Amino acid sequence: MNILILGAGGREHTLAWKLTQSPKLKKLVVAPGNAGTSQIATNIPIGVNDFEGIKKLVLSENIDLVVVGPEDPLVNGVHDFFLNDAQLQKVGVIGPQKAAATLEGSKEFAKEFMMRHHIPTAAYQSFTSASLEQGYAFLESLAPPYVLKADGLAAGKGVLILNDLQEAKSELKTMLIDAKFGKASTTVVIEEFLDGIELSVFVLTDGKGYKVLPTAKDYKRIGEGDTGLNTGGMGAISPVPFADAEFMGKIHDRIVKPTVEGLKKDKLPYKGFIFIGLIKVGDEPRVIEYNVRLGDPETEVVVPRIQNDFVELFQAVANETLDTIDLKIDERTATTVMLVSGGYPEAYEKGKAITGVETVKESLVFHAGTKHQDGKVVTNGGRVMAITSFGEEFKEALKTSYGNIAKISFEGMNYRTDLGFDL
Ligand code: ATP
Repeated sequence: MNILILGAGGREHTLAWKLTQSPKLKKLVVAPGNAGTSQIATNIPIGVNDFEGIKKLVLSENIDLVVVGPEDPLVNGVHDFFLNDAQLQKVGVIGPQKAAATLEGSKEFAKEFMMRHHIPTAAYQSFTSASLEQGYAFLESLAPPYVLKADGLAAGKGVLILNDLQEAKSELKTMLIDAKFGKASTTVVIEEFLDGIELSVFVLTDGKGYKVLPTAKDYKRIGEGDTGLNTGGMGAISPVPFADAEFMGKIHDRIVKPTVEGLKKDKLPYKGFIFIGLIKVGDEPRVIEYNVRLGDPETEVVVPRIQNDFVELFQAVANETLDTIDLKIDERTATTVMLVSGGYPEAYEKGKAITGVETVKESLVFHAGTKHQDGKVVTNGGRVMAITSFGEEFKEALKTSYGNIAKISFEGMNYRTDLGFDL
């Protein structure tokens, strides 16, 4: 089978690494990819939203199946583009069609979906510039902290959590009237604040059946103890120790099952990963968000724990035969630590030579922002590479990752040393 992966991060390198373990894989192409994917697949410099370019690539490389990494092309309708093109119709696409991808593309849509299907989430109301005054009144009716969310995609920056009522009102106005997040904040969702610990649950569905994949917890802030600015993710742990069988049972019955059934009822075609962001409030799970793809860096811990052949798994999703597959999960804990460029998530320099990776033996190294330059691997993004290790529990796995990180270096390299501090 010939497979194309769209994307360029650690998530895509991990998927590429997994797919290359399958005897059923004939050819693997990644667009645009990074230095890591180029070592195990063919990188082609085509952007993930260049649908015409992707079409040409799929036809010239005889691609049978496309795995979509990031959310943007899905929200922009890449799956629909394939279905509506006579030459591409038979190519399988892992990732939902545009209508279902709206679960991530619009927070208001996601909230309405959860309400309709009685899926536990935070109470909310949504507002536009025409209802600014009602928005102020709603804020006054809530206790702090105030949670304001731009409806559309805002590269992970569209959620504000504020303690001060006046500040919340003024931010609401800036979002709605001054288009703080452009079109993404034409509508703003104001939500009840949920106090608890976060975790993510991943589900793979073919639109009929589904498999619950391992849980993960990611660490988003740049600083130790979850302080400082938000990043794309500084590391992750899987499984989440507090997600015991009883809690997972609640997640399954109240959230996963109604989500997949809700998609069917609402006629939202879905073949791909569902990423459910949750908060555990007391002993109860509540949904904070849906993403319509795998997370990054969660993929770097979730995928290595799945022992199945991924070509078979993706074929089953495309052919709607997922119910014939038995998932095999590695019971050990996996952790990943993200190495980032100095200065990230603010301004940082690229092009720094990375050394020592070839000496890492006990950990898996998944590249994110890297590229080849003059025969060397150099940094090419804020998040540079993820170092994944296994252990009987997360402390042991982290010890291996940190031990191997000591062998890697590039100018300005930074990473968190306290993952799991809250577990
Ligand atoms: P990202 O892309 O970073 O995952 P996003 O922009 O899609 O985020 P959300 O995941 O909805 O937005 O929210 C971002 C973060 O804000 C959450 O991970 C969580 O920490 C916090 N958050 C969101 N909603 C709530 C809430 N109702 N109560 C408490 N915290 C919340």
